[in-house]
Amino acid sequence: MTLLPPFDLVVRDSELLVTLAGDPIPGGWVAVSGGLVAGTGSVGTEPEAKEVLSARGGLITPGLINAHHHIFQNLTRSYAPALGGGLFQWLTTLYPLWSRLDEEAAYVSAWIGLAELALGGCTTTSDHLYVHPCAGLIDAEISAAREVGLRFHPTRGSMSLSQEDGGLPPKSVVQTDDEILADSERLIAKYHDPAPGAMCRIALGPCSPFSVTPRLMSESASLAERRNVRLHTHLAEDRDETKFCLQTFGRSPVEHFDDLGWNEGNAWVAHCIFPTEDEMERLGLGKTAVAHCPSSNMLIGGSATPVTQLTAHGVVIGLGCDGSASTDHASLWLEARTALLLCRLRGGPTAMNAWDALRIATTGSAACLGRSGELGELRAGAPADLVVWPVDGIAFAGAHTDLVEAWLRCGPVRARHTVVNGRVVVRQGELNMPGLEDMLGRHARISREWQGVLAR
Ligand SMILES: [Zn+2]
Repeated sequence: MTLLPPFDLVVRDSELLVTLAGDPIPGGWVAVSGGLVAGTGSVGTEPEAKEVLSARGGLITPGLINAHHHIFQNLTRSYAPALGGGLFQWLTTLYPLWSRLDEEAAYVSAWIGLAELALGGCTTTSDHLYVHPCAGLIDAEISAAREVGLRFHPTRGSMSLSQEDGGLPPKSVVQTDDEILADSERLIAKYHDPAPGAMCRIALGPCSPFSVTPRLMSESASLAERRNVRLHTHLAEDRDETKFCLQTFGRSPVEHFDDLGWNEGNAWVAHCIFPTEDEMERLGLGKTAVAHCPSSNMLIGGSATPVTQLTAHGVVIGLGCDGSASTDHASLWLEARTALLLCRLRGGPTAMNAWDALRIATTGSAACLGRSGELGELRAGAPADLVVWPVDGIAFAGAHTDLVEAWLRCGPVRARHTVVNGRVVVRQGELNMPGLEDMLGRHARISREWQGVLAR
């Protein structure tokens, strides 16, 4: 189908348009119609459109895609009592607070978290909500995503192995395998849209080897295959996890994952910090993708995803900001910058450049979500998800030779405009919808109550 002008929107007069589907275009423009990219082009060929958005002084890129997050954790951001221990201590300190999650808290935290992502240039996000003390929490998140306007891939997260059964979480935050599988079926039937351009897709997300039963892992894999949805979990994040898996299952985390039918081309995992060389090869052959979340890993002090080595074994890497109680910010720009610095620190100056980081945060994450060739690139017919980033003013004075390098190395940068599905979600650096102050007030009330911190 060829779309004809006048289009709904044209974003024009950029310093540079980076489509990732072809060569960068100095002075480039993007036209949008019906939520899709209608065309791209160079200066002087701009088409007529009902709305014009100026990208003067700006860089246009595809919208960034977040492949791993736990948005509800923004209710316990930088929670002081949880800092200072390893992953397992951090989790066991926070589980009791998270057991208070209800529909209102899930909705309000999602609204704020999604707004924060949009302001940071994210257009599609996954989320991994794995604490279900009551029903309807993912439904509440989906309502928030529809209001804010982000493309949303919620995973039906879950925990079913409590302390009493040898797992890590307390009984108050786990459900039975059967409850989880039934709710997974319900969510797929109600919300999963397999069509191109979908705004909502469900994936199945048993949380980690130390918080779910092997039965839930294998039955989730069967259900995902039956319903053609993707699988997501945490994998090989921590040395305590390796110890747990060897003691409990007699297998390493990656062996356990592979045994349960997860390494079959349908899964993406968060972290994957401690695979052996042989396991990296198996993951590459199994087409399992990895969401790299550098800030969270560094803050909790574990280690970091071996991006260069995994890539050499054919594993696709995407980017995630991870939960708001360990990364604490939700800027994918900052996460991409951190990935760049960390990869160079570990692998030397040729290990990664800003273009590589941009690809990880766009096409890499799109592959994690099963949307390669659809999201993460600006080509005619693709969903119109794009960002205009400021590359002018004091922070960019003197940066002229490579605007993508400048974008990631100068800054800090937030989105000037964020367009999702053709809709302007962020305009001139502000959310393009009412209700933020009210939502922040509700968020403060709930989070203070959870943390026992009174308002002054
Ligand atoms: Zn996580």
